[in-house]
Amino acid sequence: MKHIGVYPGTFDPITRGHLDIIERGLTLFDELVVAVAASKSKSPLFDVEERMAIIRAETKKQKNVRVESFDCLLIDYIKKKKARTILRGLRVISDFEHEFQMALTNRKMAPDIETVFMMTAENYAPVSSRFIKEIAKLGGDVSPFVTPNVTKRLKQKYGA
Ligand code: ADP
Repeated sequence: MKHIGVYPGTFDPITRGHLDIIERGLTLFDELVVAVAASKSKSPLFDVEERMAIIRAETKKQKNVRVESFDCLLIDYIKKKKARTILRGLRVISDFEHEFQMALTNRKMAPDIETVFMMTAENYAPVSSRFIKEIAKLGGDVSPFVTPNVTKRLKQKYGA
């Protein structure tokens, strides 16, 4: 049976930190599904279709990566995919509290689904979609944190 991992997130937009987790995550699973949360309540800058298209373009060489979206409880989505493992990334201590709470809540709802965490590559520890959007909005250079395609998309969004 194929071991499918699901890497869920908002990916608004995908960063070099996310891409690094995807690349390393692929060593753990036969197939990795990048699951883009609609996250309407977070009022994302890029709509879910845009976020998926960006991730597909960035991962087109990685044959075992699939990009999908979901707009329901993560646990229900994972069950539907017949997957058993959630992949998440950890950067700083402040990530831990939120991730810990989420992993425990998910385990309560679905004890057979496991969450695994990958530590960020140290270069990417400070990289977050939220800060990148702030920098781009103020006209700063985001190229160390995101790919050239994402840099271009951010410039278009902010009319730079
Ligand atoms: P969410 O809204 O679900 O937190 P994000 O797109 O912000 O969605 O993050 C998705 C996952 O990727 C989270 O587990 C987050 O901790 C992880 N992540 C984000 N940026 C990095 C990074 N630079 N290095 C490692 N993991 C990261």
